[in-house]
Amino acid sequence: MRVPMIAGNWKMNTTVNEAVKLVGDLRIQLDAVNNVDKVVCPPFISLTAVKETLKGSSIKLGAQNMYFEEKGAFTGEVSPLMLAGLCEYVILGHSERRQYFGETNEIINKKVRAALKTGLKPILCVGESLAQYEAGKTEAVVTDHVTGSLKDISASASLVIAYEPVWAIGTGKAATSEQANKIIGIVRKVVTNLYSDSFAQSLRILYGGSVTSDNITELMKQPEIDGGLVGGASLKADAFSSIIKQTSQVRK
Ligand code: PEP
Repeated sequence: MRVPMIAGNWKMNTTVNEAVKLVGDLRIQLDAVNNVDKVVCPPFISLTAVKETLKGSSIKLGAQNMYFEEKGAFTGEVSPLMLAGLCEYVILGHSERRQYFGETNEIINKKVRAALKTGLKPILCVGESLAQYEAGKTEAVVTDHVTGSLKDISASASLVIAYEPVWAIGTGKAATSEQANKIIGIVRKVVTNLYSDSFAQSLRILYGGSVTSDNITELMKQPEIDGGLVGGASLKADAFSSIIKQTSQVRK
């Protein structure tokens, strides 16, 4: 049985004070929900303050990115060593990183391996663009993303994959639950072919792209979908809490 996970990607939103307030509000609503892994991923600059606010909470902490080198002359970057001890998860390969910051499978693979080496759990994002979707290339793109990003890792690595069709991110047009379930099944098969069926079956694969409190129950009823990576709706305590509480109900 895979424990469902709901992770909030706050992206470049919230000041430190706003982040502390948001996570304080989330604690009140969510600390008692214990059959879902709950993760928040604030901006780097808020990680320390949010960690402090989360002391004694069941809500876990993640970062949104990191560099693959441990230290050195890489101005502006944050290393796995800096994150280790501060948070448990790190989002890697988000489509916004691929689109605006030129991240390739090769770079993402270096990051995944560096995170695992340091004991951080990657939340690896994969997914096709609108043009690729319209050209019928979804399966080829997710296969390429998974294969390239997960090269040379251990078949017992602790990681999570998020299938996020780019056309669904921040657009209000989520994939249907059937569509998401089908592609996540394909992602799982790719992992089986790369590593093993037992690894693929143990791996949590989330759906991301316009997840809201209105569509989460339908998504979570699908057998392949192990949770959600939530952007916009994770910035509102009531909406994010509702997403997690509904997930808890479906998977009771
Ligand atoms: C995301 O940023 O990973 C995401 C899925 O965003 P949204 O939920 O806003 O579509």
